[in-house]
Amino acid sequence: MTTPTIELKPSASPLSAAERDAILVAPGFGRHFTDHMVTIRWTEGRGWHDGQLVPYGPLSLDPANMTLHYAQEIFEGLKAYRQPDGSVATFRPEKNATRFQASARRLGMPELPVETFIEACDVLVRQDAAWVPAHGGEESLYLRPFMIATEVGLGVKPANEYLFLVIASPAGAYFPGGVRPVSIWLSEDRVRAVPGGVGDAKTGGNYAASLLAQAEAAAKGCEQVCYLDAVEHRWVEELGGMNLYFVYGDRIVTPGLTGSILEGVTRDSLLTVARDLGYTAEEGRVSVEQWQRDAENGSLTEVFACGTAAVITPVGTVKRESAEWRQSGGEPGEVTLKLRSALLDVQRGITPDRHGWMHRLG
Ligand SMILES: *Cc1c(COP(=O)(O)O)cnc(C)c1O
Repeated sequence: MTTPTIELKPSASPLSAAERDAILVAPGFGRHFTDHMVTIRWTEGRGWHDGQLVPYGPLSLDPANMTLHYAQEIFEGLKAYRQPDGSVATFRPEKNATRFQASARRLGMPELPVETFIEACDVLVRQDAAWVPAHGGEESLYLRPFMIATEVGLGVKPANEYLFLVIASPAGAYFPGGVRPVSIWLSEDRVRAVPGGVGDAKTGGNYAASLLAQAEAAAKGCEQVCYLDAVEHRWVEELGGMNLYFVYGDRIVTPGLTGSILEGVTRDSLLTVARDLGYTAEEGRVSVEQWQRDAENGSLTEVFACGTAAVITPVGTVKRESAEWRQSGGEPGEVTLKLRSALLDVQRGITPDRHGWMHRLG
């Protein structure tokens, strides 16, 4: 595989420091974007080429662009954090790079070399470093690498041309007023992913398929949907965009990777962080009956969701067609909060990086 260089063509009119700082006061999530983006093209027979850092701006696409019709698209999400010494570091970017390759294989797309993925993120973060919020809070710069097909035509086949991009968006504290539990709708009919499908690939279609269930959950007063396995409609898999953990005292359990669960970097990191803190951390199987029974008899002490965007989110109310219950009295649990600060402290450079997870950009 070729590893293209990324040519720097920075903007002549970036936002002023005053305008940028006004956004950074309360950036929200995914609402504002930095001054630049990285683009790299792939063409059959030529491989990766034309790597560029250019001003952030709209793409011009032919209406018959294949992505618009058949959704050959994949994406990633990772964060850059300001460190106590003022430098910037990303969290485990090689995990996102290898997952991006796995998603590409599943969607019949070309694999971007791991070092090119990391370099593209680094180039953008270096250029737009002023957009990385100051050290201290939970704010970060969210990076969104993604790849689309760019071939024009309505024939159904893997495209012969692709565009890889990285854009960046400042992210505020996910819970500005303090950590708040989310309510969950347990979907016993709609499924997110099927065995042999694309549930373990990070592709937009999985999200498109989840939107109706999400709207139905909202109508029932719930913020997130929890999906069960597609065969028995019994085994807990994950939320639309976050993995789940079940806390039994000092033992935490997350559903094992079945092929229809997205392998979260946060999920993986927490297996290690939890063991570092002296907890037992396991992958296993949890059925919906077990969840309800153990919540009701009190042995299941906490449940939380995890992913890059929200780090760790406690689960409060859980509803299914036949029942409703509350986890840890509807308050964030103790283990949940401990794991949350332990992981955030590594990401913000407050505690030593024992596992070599931080990628420092200087
Ligand atoms: C991205 C994603 C996650 C979380 O993965 P992280 O790497 O921890 O951000 C979980 N589930 C789905 C479906 C996702 O798309």
